[in-house]
Amino acid sequence: MFARPFDETHNLFRDAFRSFVEKEVSPHVEEFERARRIDKDLFLRAGASGFLGMTVPTEYGGGGEADFRFSVVMVEEFCRAQVGSTAGAITLHNDTIIPYFLQATTEEQRQRWLPGICSGETMTAIAMTEPGTGSDLANITTRAERRGDSYVLNGTKTFITNGINADLIVVACKTDPTQRHRGISLLVVESGMPGFTRGRQLEKIGQHAQDTCELIFDNVEVPVENLLGEENSGFTQLVGNLPKERLSLAVQAVAHATSVFEMTLQYCKERKAFGQPIGSFQNSKFKFAEMKTEIHLGQTFVDQQVLALNAGELTAEDAAEAKWWCTEMNWRVLDTCLQLHGGYGYMEEYPIARAWRDGRVPTIYGGTTEIMKEIVGRSLGL
Ligand SMILES: Cc1cc2nc3c(=O)[nH]c(=O)nc-3n(C[C@H](O)[C@H](O)[C@H](O)COP(=O)(O)OP(=O)(O)OC[C@H]3O[C@@H](n4cnc5c(N)ncnc54)[C@H](O)[C@@H]3O)c2cc1C
Repeated sequence: MFARPFDETHNLFRDAFRSFVEKEVSPHVEEFERARRIDKDLFLRAGASGFLGMTVPTEYGGGGEADFRFSVVMVEEFCRAQVGSTAGAITLHNDTIIPYFLQATTEEQRQRWLPGICSGETMTAIAMTEPGTGSDLANITTRAERRGDSYVLNGTKTFITNGINADLIVVACKTDPTQRHRGISLLVVESGMPGFTRGRQLEKIGQHAQDTCELIFDNVEVPVENLLGEENSGFTQLVGNLPKERLSLAVQAVAHATSVFEMTLQYCKERKAFGQPIGSFQNSKFKFAEMKTEIHLGQTFVDQQVLALNAGELTAEDAAEAKWWCTEMNWRVLDTCLQLHGGYGYMEEYPIARAWRDGRVPTIYGGTTEIMKEIVGRSLGL
């Protein structure tokens, strides 16, 4: 393996975060999986230990550290500990949603929202997808109509991660329905606003600790002070932030594959059939060799992109390439590892079973593999 792009500061941070995961996350995973959502106390504990909002300037309660490698360390440690979807709420909050609160907000909005976001008192979600449209974001129908000092918001969102727990939700809506992407704005809806209700909590085949639900907006009066950026600038903000979200998903995919690979390698060294470890059959050796090579390729690719993001040079096409290839690679690795476990791989008591269920959806959320390929294809002038 080539040298990873970390220095002593990242290594010390890794030690601290590893012990946080061991003490505060791992012991609660089973309870969160059963409850179909994490306990909000976990956010408070993460906030108190400085693991939320590291990119937020210190004057708003954050860590004041823009280096994305600290997020990479957190993702890798979550995957190493096999805490599955429990980690998703924190990673989404830190890597996907906080950028919206940093980039397009006014000083008044930053002072109002960021301290709670960093302390863990305020959980966040982002709501783009609707029952009628996911990939085709420009076709959303959730409508916000300006009336005096408020927008009146109507519509339904679905598949929203952290939807039940969230206190602040960034909602993509149409402020100019005559336009497609040029008519989209981002409004921040707060828990408790009259007319805002949570719909069904959705039963998923995996990622059980991550709450996923429908959100309903029925004549919700959202003050104009809750508009992020300019009216009708929502799509531009989304396009600006999605590459980072996609890179974060690619980093998770490689880390997940690495952790499951190592677990399976150990299993195959110990389990015997026909008087020899199952890992020593030529087929197993070749499978491990193929997986190791693919993980190595993915790791090299995302490490390079993490440095590009830090340098402000990550392009939408590069992030799309990383997202589709690494999440598909992760799925190939998970499926191969389950097969190598034989019947035990299909048993809930073996961690590979949960890893396999959890690993299916990353090729879908954050933009499907097909949409990622569309982005890459378009960049080639096709
Ligand atoms: C567990 C989970 C969590 C999620 N969390 C969130 C969240 O927090 N916030 C949020 O806003 N959304 C969230 N989503 C929604 C997710 O981003 C969408 O499911 C995804 O973007 C796909 O949209 P869709 O489900 O409507 O599928 P569709 O858009 O209906 O696509 C169906 C199929 O058609 C293909 N397809 C569509 N258009 C094209 C095209 N132009 N070319 C080729 N193929 C195409 C797709 O690739 C896919 O295979 C989540 C989804 C899941 C499952």
